[in-house]
Amino acid sequence: MASKFQAPRGTFDILPEAARERARLESAAAEIFARAGYEPIATPAFEDTALFERGVGQSTDIVRKEMFTFEDKGERSLTLRPEGTASICRAYLEHGMHKLAQPVKLSYLGPFFRHERPQAGRYRQFHQLGIECIGTDSPLADAEVIMLLSDLLGELGVPGVELRLGSLGSFEARRAYLEDLKAHLHANEADLSKDVRERIDINPLRAFDADDEGTRGVMASAPTIVERLEGEDAEHFAEVRRLLDAAGIAYIVDTSLVRGLDYYTRTIFSFVCDQLGAQSEIGGGGRYDGLVEQLGGPATPAVGFAAGIERILLALDEEVPAPGRDAFVAVADPGQRERAMALAVELRHAGLSAEVDLAGRNLKSQFKHADRVGARRVLILEADGSAKLRDMQTGEQRDADPGNLVDEMTGGGS
Ligand code: AMP
Repeated sequence: MASKFQAPRGTFDILPEAARERARLESAAAEIFARAGYEPIATPAFEDTALFERGVGQSTDIVRKEMFTFEDKGERSLTLRPEGTASICRAYLEHGMHKLAQPVKLSYLGPFFRHERPQAGRYRQFHQLGIECIGTDSPLADAEVIMLLSDLLGELGVPGVELRLGSLGSFEARRAYLEDLKAHLHANEADLSKDVRERIDINPLRAFDADDEGTRGVMASAPTIVERLEGEDAEHFAEVRRLLDAAGIAYIVDTSLVRGLDYYTRTIFSFVCDQLGAQSEIGGGGRYDGLVEQLGGPATPAVGFAAGIERILLALDEEVPAPGRDAFVAVADPGQRERAMALAVELRHAGLSAEVDLAGRNLKSQFKHADRVGARRVLILEADGSAKLRDMQTGEQRDADPGNLVDEMTGGGS
């Protein structure tokens, strides 16, 4: 009977089949990140609201509309984390990681929360994995971070992936550019959607993301920052491109690329997948040279990415087969249950997966159940202390040495 309770809107349960796919993805990511020297970090699921207001930015949709914010009993405003980078920079400063050898290379994985309109590939609780490389402005770091996400998607076999690359320039270059962009938007206000018009002075870059025809027309002739990068900004972007070219990573330069967080400077990138419909971005990120300082630390350049675990899984759409069990210990007589349990424990300690019947089934039902859980072999403990071993694939059954059952199972005897 179904309960009247359901998982809240925009959230979902991860059932064992789905958990298996996730585990494969997560261990592939952990391995790829570790091989490149990125060490795991975990931060709390909620933080002071001010961290995100400051870090993610007051003008972003995330801070304006999408945060799950609540007051605790001490009347402090807390927010379920909508993204990971601000928290990691907070931890970097809080634990004095700026005093370590730089850059500090970190990886993370976990649930994030945004009050968005739920649809396929967009949830209110979702999971991201990501890395941050904090404490260097070298284009090598930008290239390394991009390569690692590219490697991960490649190793998992995600189909139809395209890498889009852009640059927002330094803060100063961006500030000058934003004035020109605002002027262009104001000059064409009549053709813009209401939403874009209202945000010209708050977040003009988001106009590049609009999908209404009027705004798109205006944006087609808008100035782009990539075209006017100068000096060190231009050289930085050119070097990132050279490094990606040298590594054989295909990308397109997207002059209209923008991201939903305020902290980006210079390199930004986005991996999109043609299998995903409207929510086509699998992961993305960029450089955020001002964020650590913004949070009260020393000037610290950094770069990173976050990828959506659900989006990767949707794009893969695969099933990982159930693992089965090495052994099921059945009892021909209820008096043997204790012995069965002890034997299962011994088998587990020896590294095998082993189950016993926990539901008081008769022998016939135990066989049925062993089959259901995918047991490859069944050990049958008889009332007189003897034992039998049955191979579930061939149906062959033979006597087994009751004093030597663990060895029989681990030694490859069948
Ligand atoms: P962002 O933190 O906005 O740069 O997003 C990074 C990645 O997280 C995106 O490319 C998506 O794959 C994933 N993502 C962001 N928001 C959601 C959401 N509401 N539901 C599922 N995945 C999301």
